[in-house]
Amino acid sequence: AAPSFVVIGGGPGGATTAKYIRRFAPDARVTVIEPNATYTTCFMSNEVIGGDRDISTLQVPMSAMRAHGITLVQDKATGIDADAKTVTTQGGETIAFDRCIVAPGVDFRYDAIEGYSAEAAEVMPHAWKAGPQTTLLRAQLEAMEDGGTVIVSAPPNPFRCPPGPYERISLIANYLKQHKPKSKILVLDAKDKFSKQGLFEQAWETFYGYGTENSMIEWVPKADGGTVTGVNPATMEVTAVAGTFKGDVVNIIPPQTAGAIAHAAGLVEDGWCPVNKGTFESLVVEGVHVLGDSSVAASMPKSGSSANSQGKAAAAGALALAMGQEPPVPHLANACYSIGGPDHGFSVAAVYAYDDFENALKPVEGSGGVSPMDAGPESRRREMFYAHSWFENIKADIWG
Ligand code: FAD
Repeated sequence: AAPSFVVIGGGPGGATTAKYIRRFAPDARVTVIEPNATYTTCFMSNEVIGGDRDISTLQVPMSAMRAHGITLVQDKATGIDADAKTVTTQGGETIAFDRCIVAPGVDFRYDAIEGYSAEAAEVMPHAWKAGPQTTLLRAQLEAMEDGGTVIVSAPPNPFRCPPGPYERISLIANYLKQHKPKSKILVLDAKDKFSKQGLFEQAWETFYGYGTENSMIEWVPKADGGTVTGVNPATMEVTAVAGTFKGDVVNIIPPQTAGAIAHAAGLVEDGWCPVNKGTFESLVVEGVHVLGDSSVAASMPKSGSSANSQGKAAAAGALALAMGQEPPVPHLANACYSIGGPDHGFSVAAVYAYDDFENALKPVEGSGGVSPMDAGPESRRREMFYAHSWFENIKADIWG
């Protein structure tokens, strides 16, 4: 009989894998388990927070996967039995597989910040899973008076979307500059450097007075005590190593780990899931593949673009292994666009070759790179346009 696959999660990682297994083997039986009827992309959610985009443009219906002959189960996976080759769900189903694909994204390490929790996030949103958290943070910014302080706490590595906090800071600053110009953004960071830092700082200098006395943005790195250790939602106070700060709007992006189902299934070591980076099969549990944010796929960043590329490699790898064939040796790619201000985009991109001897994904020399620091406004404007077309294209490739 044709091989069967159960995919946990209908996000970029899971949906790409499901679709591409069916493309590579039209007779394969593929079931996707996903609790939400609609997926809301985190990509471009910073534009919603900045007031430049409606959240409906981030929403994709899971039912579209059925057009590819995929069976959709609207439920939450609760366990994987790798010996019996079955997945169990909250709704009481037991679904058999030849190979299981796990792509549940990240979960938050609430215990790393004293006082922070899912309840506290209703007052101090993380907005690091898109949906109601995104619109909550947007509504808080709209309600804030001119002259208020927005605190953004950025997490330690590794985490979902390394440039994401800094794009968010840029787009909040862009909104405040136009509507509440006396306001400030205090960034408390658990790191000393961050992705595309030179390009972000250049944008902040150009648009938001960064580096001057009138800067709208103050960035406190780890070395200056930026690591957040506690919060008090009742008083809107945030405690970092450097001291306690009061915000009018507080966006806590907590430290992260692999999604809960990966922990429940015993796939996790040191917070994340180690995998064969060619097939994305778990190094801990045979017959189960993990990709996307939950996996250790360094030196690829945790991005939707990476998850999409990994989905194709995982599909080819899982299919070959299910049919007793030698898995192909893949090349993968990532492109991450960021928006720093009006008509001001830039990017980082790389192609990665799989080295099976070292189980490493190595950037191919001469491929990709970062946008040049000395690019002019026309180039930045074009990259903003590319960012928006990337968004439409990746949505179509994953869920279309
Ligand atoms: P997810 O997108 O989290 O999908 C996981 C899915 O699994 C979810 O639908 C969830 O409901 C489901 N799930 C979880 N547990 C279970 C379970 N037990 N049973 C069944 N289903 C389950 N990336 C880019 O490439 N470009 C960008 O510009 C970009 N911008 C970003 C901006 C922000 C503000 C943020 C926060 C992220 C951004 N990202 C961007 C990163 C990107 O969103 C993630 O890397 C990507 O979503 C990871 O995909 P994933 O499939 O691994 O996980």
